[in-house]
Amino acid sequence: MEERLIKRLMAVIKCRVCGRHYEVDNVNILSHDQDLWFLSAICPACRTRCLIAAIVKEGRVPEVITDLTEAELDRFRNAAKLTADDVLDMHNFLDNFAGDFSRLFSQN
Ligand SMILES: [Zn+2]
Repeated sequence: MEERLIKRLMAVIKCRVCGRHYEVDNVNILSHDQDLWFLSAICPACRTRCLIAAIVKEGRVPEVITDLTEAELDRFRNAAKLTADDVLDMHNFLDNFAGDFSRLFSQN
């Protein structure tokens, strides 16, 4: 399995100390033998180092189904999180929206 993919899988794991997700750049592969991987990761927030042993079976990794490109996935992954203001803006937009959603979505 590709090392880059393993690192991305590890990025879904959260730091046990502060709860922050590890980042791909902070994950190092120490060794790997068939399905068994040993990795170390440093939390980007509190700098705590953790060691990870993972058994990753090829073909069992759930496939991500998306029409986003790799570049778009990276862009959204690093994008700022939604804020209360964003939600408020959408609320105000919908409040003032004079169109007809039912008609809009039933046109095809
Ligand atoms: Zn941490």
